[in-house]
Amino acid sequence: MTVESAVAAVELIGGVARTRDIVAQGVRKSDLGRAHAEGLLLRPRVGVYATPSTPTATVEALSHRGRIACVTAGRAYGLWLLDDGDQEPVHTWIDEKHHPMRIAIHPEPEEGACCAFHRDIAVDEPTLASVGILHCLRQILACRGEEAFFAALESALRQSLVDDQARERLKLSLPAGFRWLVDFARTDAGSGLESLVRLRLRRYGLALTPQVAVPGVGVVDFVIGDCLIVEADGDTHDGPSRHRDRVRDAAAMALGFITLRFDYALIVHDWEIVEAAILAAFSRNLHRSPAGLTW
Ligand SMILES: [Zn+2]
Ligand SMILES: [Zn+2]
Repeated sequence: MTVESAVAAVELIGGVARTRDIVAQGVRKSDLGRAHAEGLLLRPRVGVYATPSTPTATVEALSHRGRIACVTAGRAYGLWLLDDGDQEPVHTWIDEKHHPMRIAIHPEPEEGACCAFHRDIAVDEPTLASVGILHCLRQILACRGEEAFFAALESALRQSLVDDQARERLKLSLPAGFRWLVDFARTDAGSGLESLVRLRLRRYGLALTPQVAVPGVGVVDFVIGDCLIVEADGDTHDGPSRHRDRVRDAAAMALGFITLRFDYALIVHDWEIVEAAILAAFSRNLHRSPAGLTW
């Protein structure tokens, strides 16, 4: 056994591993120590090793005897979350069962908040480095509110990270007033922007149908009523996609549809404009087809 085999063993376990699990792979403790001394392995805390490619947020959380949580874990799971710039602290979960109050929260407190700490009770089994997906989602609800939660949940459902059983478990773990969000979530939302639009328009009681296949046009994000298309464009609508969108709009118009198209900045930062446009179209009955158009 060599230093290299120590690194290989940590990689095999998933990039972050406890000493006892590495030793169980046949690695000598002395080789582990040398790998750390030579910079081939990180040691976020005594008894835990990580490969140098481990995200800094994960190393930070581990150094507190914690795990990445909430939006930090959500990004690692690939959930849809609003951009928060680079200023977002590491959201770290401390398991109070194992590390009660005596834990040293930060080695250098004068540097300010390096982490946003969560100390709630787990929903599902954590890994060594991260909270479970259900726990992560519930923390996003507590930390970022229902819209962020809903968009993250729909992206988790779309990626099959949460199955029907887990979905029910998540629902029961939430405060009663938020459980309807889990029932309202779909598995086929195209993007977090679509999730936000559907959630926000719900309060107007508009008959909004997601993911409608319009012949000759393709699948549109939403149709309101008979013929009012609402598209929520992510950042993939520049260049050639831009032209394709124009073709779709023209093809839809030729069939009697009207398309309202909004982008990330409008939906996230200027929702009033989006809302005013949709409600104005609605009040002028642009969603009703005099020709009896149906899709
Ligand atoms: Zn948080
Ligand atoms: Zn920290």
